[in-house]
Amino acid sequence: MESALREHSRLGASGAHLWGNCAGSVQMREHFREDEGIEAMEGNAMHEVFAQALATSRNAAEFLGAKVNVEGRNITRSFKIDGEAARNIQCALDYCKMIAGTPGTSFIEQRVDLTHIHPDMYSHLDFGHFGIDGVLTIVDYKNGRLSVEADGNWQIILYALGAIRTFGHEAPIPVRWVRLVIVQPNDIEPGPRIKQAVVDVSAIMAMIPFFQHVAALTDHPTPPFNAGKHCRYCPAFGACKTSRDHLSYVGNLMSIDFATADPRALKAAFEHAKLIKQRLKNLEDVATKRLTAGEDIGGLKLVTTVKHRAWVHEEAVKAKILEQFGPEPLECPTPAALEKYGPAARAFAEQNAIVPPGDPVAALADDKRKPYTVRSAVDIFGAKQ
Ligand code: SF4
Repeated sequence: MESALREHSRLGASGAHLWGNCAGSVQMREHFREDEGIEAMEGNAMHEVFAQALATSRNAAEFLGAKVNVEGRNITRSFKIDGEAARNIQCALDYCKMIAGTPGTSFIEQRVDLTHIHPDMYSHLDFGHFGIDGVLTIVDYKNGRLSVEADGNWQIILYALGAIRTFGHEAPIPVRWVRLVIVQPNDIEPGPRIKQAVVDVSAIMAMIPFFQHVAALTDHPTPPFNAGKHCRYCPAFGACKTSRDHLSYVGNLMSIDFATADPRALKAAFEHAKLIKQRLKNLEDVATKRLTAGEDIGGLKLVTTVKHRAWVHEEAVKAKILEQFGPEPLECPTPAALEKYGPAARAFAEQNAIVPPGDPVAALADDKRKPYTVRSAVDIFGAKQ
């Protein structure tokens, strides 16, 4: 199978987390054209199989062993569909087939028009469905491990706006709600592999002026720059002045005594520390990439990470363990691992798994995680006598 990396518009929906937060990033990305990372190319291969399987009503298992050649700008890479890849794709297929099986109109791998937001804007979406109940479902398959939420996700909201503009006339009745769906089988975080948010269509339409505003900012000769956690996805991270200013804070960080520091100094340190950590991770990734490409960097070398031992034939080993030692040594799969085995496994995980309470950790005030309440001895042991 052959696949080419999708052509992206300068202001594509998949880049909205960058240009929506930092208008200057659009110009900077043009200077720092990225080579296609292996993860992006692998994601493309998975999308290719997903789209073909869905369009031809096949299961992902029918693609087992197939090779997908993904053609990038400078390199072509080949990916083989193994058992794990097939299970991941099937997870998205099951969901889309379930939605497509309900009355309405479906569309697969379509380009959608977003020129009402900016003249340069269009995008490609994975799957959409206009239901006769007035629900527009937009599904985006993510192959990566970094957790992506559906709720408030600008990329899928833009897909929904594009779908309404491009295919809205095919909807059986006017859209009333939009179901935003992320299927992410490899999500590193525990929790559902299929994440959904249902939003009134008026809330989605109300986003248009915001997107128009931030998209227009990118055309400005001196667009505003804004550093934040989105910088980790930007090729100009560490090169643009705004991110460099944040990173130069590292000298201060080294001289602060955290145990006695003023609360304001601690907060400032927190604000900068995230960006600095991300930058250090970039350093390791880029150095590894350059050494792997054969570059001689005096004083640096490639080393091999230590991995755990693995069974050669896992299924056969499981059967033998069961026979010789009984079921105890066979560890229960995690709920997330089980969920990859289809709708019945997901229902089983939903009924039998719980999320244990988390531990406290310091974070900035705008952190979206659930707040932690410190419980007193009275809360834990009951009222004093
Ligand atoms: S690194 Fe951050 S601040 Fe700099 S251009 Fe990219 S997104 Fe904007």
